[in-house]
Amino acid sequence: MITIKSITKSFGSLQVLKGIDLQINKGEVVSIVGPSGAGKTTLLQIIGTLDRPDGGEVVVDGIEVGSLSSKKLSDFRNQHLGFIFQFHQLLPEFTALENVMIPAYIAGKKKSEAMQRANELLDFLGLADRANHKPAELSGGEKQRVAVARALMNEPAVVLADEPSGSLDSKNKAELHQLFFDLRDKFGQTFVIVTHDEELAKLTDRTIHLRDGLVEHDSAADNLTQTVLPSQDVAE
Ligand code: ADP
Repeated sequence: MITIKSITKSFGSLQVLKGIDLQINKGEVVSIVGPSGAGKTTLLQIIGTLDRPDGGEVVVDGIEVGSLSSKKLSDFRNQHLGFIFQFHQLLPEFTALENVMIPAYIAGKKKSEAMQRANELLDFLGLADRANHKPAELSGGEKQRVAVARALMNEPAVVLADEPSGSLDSKNKAELHQLFFDLRDKFGQTFVIVTHDEELAKLTDRTIHLRDGLVEHDSAADNLTQTVLPSQDVAE
């Protein structure tokens, strides 16, 4: 679903990504962890086509995104990717339902179909009775779930989340974390989540540790070792 080859990125004289190679499979829920300044958000922004790398290749959902013009890139982003940020970034003057429908509106989809999908998503996220409330009338956890519904509106192949539970209390955090897995199981999406939250990282299928712009550790490599080692023992 996502292939990254030899990605580098500098800001001025600071090299933030020093050659990242990754392959993320369809339906994986992956966490990216590491110390502040390791390059996590920069990597997520590059996967999300919000920023371009200086070197290397990024293929998302079968498209080599480096080859797309700015206009095509923004269409690609709206159709293939969903974003969840630490702060919900809902538009205050619109209801929950209208906020969820925004990506469909941008994509020029039919209003009746968009409304049906938005209502289905809100229902699945336990927010059916909040559809006509404005953000100011929702709790923190509810606002973040509306933001999740909005991210899923155009049936993206990949959902990218940057500290999605960073502003929530522990109960809402746990609910949001469970939601990622429920959504993956229902809709088959791939989730890439930058997080400082160790509880969330423990839950995910795979954890990628970044340090100083490099992959320091990828738990997918542990799984490989675990499956290879027993057969080696037998052979010996
Ligand atoms: P992390 O998410 O792991 O904390 P970031 O990817 O946000 O790390 O940032 C990595 C480094 O790049 C930091 O030192 C940060 O200050 C710097 N950086 C990030 N974005 C920019 C930018 N747009 N301009 C200049 N420096 C940046």
